Amino acid sequence: MPETLQFIPVAEAREPFFVGIDLGGTNIKFGVVDDRGRPMSWMTIPTEAERGPEDTAERMAAAVHRVIGEAGLTPQRIARVGLASAGPMDIPAGMITTPINLKGWHNAPIRDLVATSCGLPVTFENDANAAAYGEFWVGAGRDFPSLILLTLGTGIGCGIIFGDLVLRGEHSHGGESGHIILDFSPEARLCGCGRRGHLEAYASATAVIKRAKQLLESGRRSSLSDRIAGGKGLTPKLIAAEAEAGDELSLEIVLETAHYIGLGAVSLMHMLQPAGVFLGGAMTFGGHETALGRRFLEHVREEVQRLALPQVARATSIDFATLGGDAGFIGAAGVARLEWLQKQTGHY
Ligand SMILES: [Zn+2]
Repeated sequence: MPETLQFIPVAEAREPFFVGIDLGGTNIKFGVVDDRGRPMSWMTIPTEAERGPEDTAERMAAAVHRVIGEAGLTPQRIARVGLASAGPMDIPAGMITTPINLKGWHNAPIRDLVATSCGLPVTFENDANAAAYGEFWVGAGRDFPSLILLTLGTGIGCGIIFGDLVLRGEHSHGGESGHIILDFSPEARLCGCGRRGHLEAYASATAVIKRAKQLLESGRRSSLSDRIAGGKGLTPKLIAAEAEAGDELSLEIVLETAHYIGLGAVSLMHMLQPAGVFLGGAMTFGGHETALGRRFLEHVREEVQRLALPQVARATSIDFATLGGDAGFIGAAGVARLEWLQKQTGHY
């Protein structure tokens, strides 16, 4: 969260410097980050995607120059810019192909538009991969040699990092683990992607709201009904608040979500055996800060212990991510640094 971001002054920062951009459907976050992943400045602007990719790229370039100035730097001192965005995308081509959250941006060559507008070289990355790299570089996974980050929000994002390898797959959609299959029966829940039985259809915010609705419609008693009758919208936040206040149905929904996350984590762990699996995003029920968040995490861990090979379960840490909404821009700067280093050493 921006309020908790600790900025370091240029005198304490270590060169080279990088700019990270996290392009979302509603907002775009920018920040200058030093060689150790420490933020030096930060800002956000509305995406206003309807104005088109060229217009947005121009405004992004202006914002890039502003954060560089606010960090006490000049553009000449920036080694590279990292730009993270949601897919579907073609990472090598620097293109967003058929975006869901950026209407009208089909086949937008956003990497090159931003590079031309701001006059700096740009590395393009999937936003879930960037967030995972941010956690790996300076967040919850900074002491881990490898990790998987599951981002629990409207959908479920996933990024997989092993050392300096960001798993992008052969055609830019590697590690899309929100869509691993939990249920292959014909009545399996419908995912946001249009297929059935995917993890996202069980454990995303959208899925949690859907499940809550169905349980209430089936006649289950819950304080949620009173809150909704009182004008509150049915959201994961409301479910968390009611669970904390002792509502059984709400707690059941939270723990069921943990169960599904545990199932997904186990499949990923058996495939890749990362050193850590981290849970981030808006729907972590308060994380370590609340009793409910801790209970949610504990239940994910219990499910992993119950279902995974003991050797795998024992060797993998399961925990919350720590960078919150800043993981994207910090990680975008991190992958830009990675590309810069690879170009320096000739390993590419
Ligand atoms: Zn899906």
